[in-house]
Amino acid sequence: MAANTIIEQVYEQVVKRNAGEVEFLQAVKEVLDSLGPILEKHPEYVESRILDRIVEPERQFMFRVPWQDDKGNVHVNRGFRVEFNSALGPYKGGLRFHPTVNQSILKFLGFEQVFKNSLTTLPMGGGKGGSDFDPKGKSDNEVMRFCQSFMTELCRHIGPDTDVPAGDIGVGGREIGFLFGQYKRVRNEFTGVLTGKALNWGGSLIRPEATGYGCVYFADEMLKTRGESFDGKICTVSGSGNVAQYTVEKLNQLGAKAVSLSDSSGSIYDPNGIDDEKLAFVLDLKNVRRGRIKEYADKFGVDYLEGKRPWGIKCDCAFPSATQNEINGDDAATLLKNGCTLVAEGANMPSTPEAIDQYIEKKIMYGPGKAANAGGVATSGLEMSQNSMRLSWTREEVDERLHNIMIAIHKQAYEAAEEYGEPSNLVMGANIAGFVKVADSMLDQGLV
Ligand code: NDP
Repeated sequence: MAANTIIEQVYEQVVKRNAGEVEFLQAVKEVLDSLGPILEKHPEYVESRILDRIVEPERQFMFRVPWQDDKGNVHVNRGFRVEFNSALGPYKGGLRFHPTVNQSILKFLGFEQVFKNSLTTLPMGGGKGGSDFDPKGKSDNEVMRFCQSFMTELCRHIGPDTDVPAGDIGVGGREIGFLFGQYKRVRNEFTGVLTGKALNWGGSLIRPEATGYGCVYFADEMLKTRGESFDGKICTVSGSGNVAQYTVEKLNQLGAKAVSLSDSSGSIYDPNGIDDEKLAFVLDLKNVRRGRIKEYADKFGVDYLEGKRPWGIKCDCAFPSATQNEINGDDAATLLKNGCTLVAEGANMPSTPEAIDQYIEKKIMYGPGKAANAGGVATSGLEMSQNSMRLSWTREEVDERLHNIMIAIHKQAYEAAEEYGEPSNLVMGANIAGFVKVADSMLDQGLV
């Protein structure tokens, strides 16, 4: 049977089994659509039904998370963990706390994570979890009580050699601390069961910076393939959380000018650039005072685009670093019309299929999330290694490893794309390079 027919049949079955899970179906379709050439070359993948197996999570849990607010009122949220694929190592992937969290979103993130972790070259399987809990507007004590209740159930399923969660949207250093404390209390174990820990108790230098730095390193590799550099490039960045903050920091270091940030209420546009001093204000605003990005516009007297994303701002490079599907077909058309020639995804699946089609058609430099933002999980992998060895590497050592990993990820994706005749198509390259290692490992391990 022709490869494309097999892919269509597998996708039809996925649609039937996962009805209504739009984000998951979007992520599966994007990967399957890249795999035709690989199936032609490897009939053993077809015989062993690797595609049918790889789209089905190995295991998933959903649980009740009851907690009390500061006034004593009882709330109930829903907790999840999707353990997607352990062919390459323990399940690894973040926890997201956001009101939009549901099974579809976590399955899409877990599925992407499998291929992303494979690209890092480190021994990590893929998983993802979280809750529809919204940390926004909650006191530290409320967040702590929620995290303790969440971990009381989650701790049955995870462990340093089984499943090692980390942060994602709404889960930063504060939440990882509360989650770790409860795991330790219930299990009576001080182990590397979570990454993104603080430095005093097992964290790694550069982990907070890793996703943003890694995304800019990846973009730099894309620029080099066309003989360009960041010098003087105008860059738009969306989001103002962990990934966006360190994307701006690294862009500044490499001589680019980052001119925007956003949150779910709106965007700021600073044509003079978000320099290190202004960025320090953002870090305090977002990580300590937990305020809204509008305060940046008030403080520095720049434009605030209420309710808008930053894609209407003229730029050379765009770094979507907030959430999924934040660049639609119209946004992509605007970016391209305004001369944008590079999109590097700090966020997971921030571009819709209509946007991606335009990047590929116009052959701009496009770094899909599973490759471009893999620096976060790669550095989590480095945190796990340091925990196992019970030692800590210096900032320079971790940064150098991160940089080399991002260079290697770009090389794998670029070379795979070139091998299959589409050198500028890193979507195809990243999907193929990530898939082959997982598929071969699944074959090695038998029908499990
Ligand atoms: P944070 O919670 O630190 O920040 C998220 C930012 O995105 C906030 O500014 C938030 O605004 C904004 N945002 C979230 N949801 C929406 C939405 N629905 N619409 C508009 N804006 C939104 O998360 P991270 O920076 O850690 O994560 C950002 C993205 O990067 C996610 O896609 C995540 O999966 C991805 N990622 C993160 C990694 C990491 O190491 N942290 C690793 C790899 C990928 P507001 O405060 O208003 O909600």
